[in-house]
Amino acid sequence: MALEAAAYWLLLRGRRRRAREVLFFPSRVTCVEGLLAAAAGPGPTLQCACPLPHGESALGRLVGLLLTTRRSLELCLFAFSSPQLGRAVLLLHRRGVRVRVVTDADYMVLAGSQVGRLRKAGIQVRHDQDEGYMHHKFAIIDKKVVITGSLNWTTQAIQTNRENVLIMEDADCVKVFLAEFEKLWENYNPASYIFFPEEKQVPKKNKCSLAIEKPFNK
Ligand code: ZN
Repeated sequence: MALEAAAYWLLLRGRRRRAREVLFFPSRVTCVEGLLAAAAGPGPTLQCACPLPHGESALGRLVGLLLTTRRSLELCLFAFSSPQLGRAVLLLHRRGVRVRVVTDADYMVLAGSQVGRLRKAGIQVRHDQDEGYMHHKFAIIDKKVVITGSLNWTTQAIQTNRENVLIMEDADCVKVFLAEFEKLWENYNPASYIFFPEEKQVPKKNKCSLAIEKPFNK
């Protein structure tokens, strides 16, 4: 029902403003080194010698779009393990873009997840603590563009799955997605994490902020 309402709403909006772009996956496997190198700043332009094709692809488009971010990037992603997209996000962070990530607690710890890498670099990450998955897959660029669809940001999905990604530059749409992001951001505030039943908590001095914030009950 909610989905129908959303579809209808999009249809209505579409009459006035059209969605800008749709990407379909699986993506042709192409090299995105050039895009990343160009975004990293001025430097010697070396011809990439890798055996991959260097033309356009849905992944290249997504990376390119991300790299247009100037001020803020909100990522609300169930699974994030694509190294290329991870590098693009790290690059933005280094460039001074305010990056915030909301993700799924179970999937962020899987091998290959980019989330630890992002965290290590100083990017703020918050995750769910629900029984259900934090299953969204959307991003908001500069509070102006929404990227959403079925695609998890994983190499598996990018290269092998049938997926769609809708890119919309639409103020109303951004508003509702941003409101959802802010709601989750607040709900997943670490101050209110309640992972471990009190009796199972093990205090780890100077290691676990959770133990410091919520002293072990003994
Ligand atoms: Zn290459």
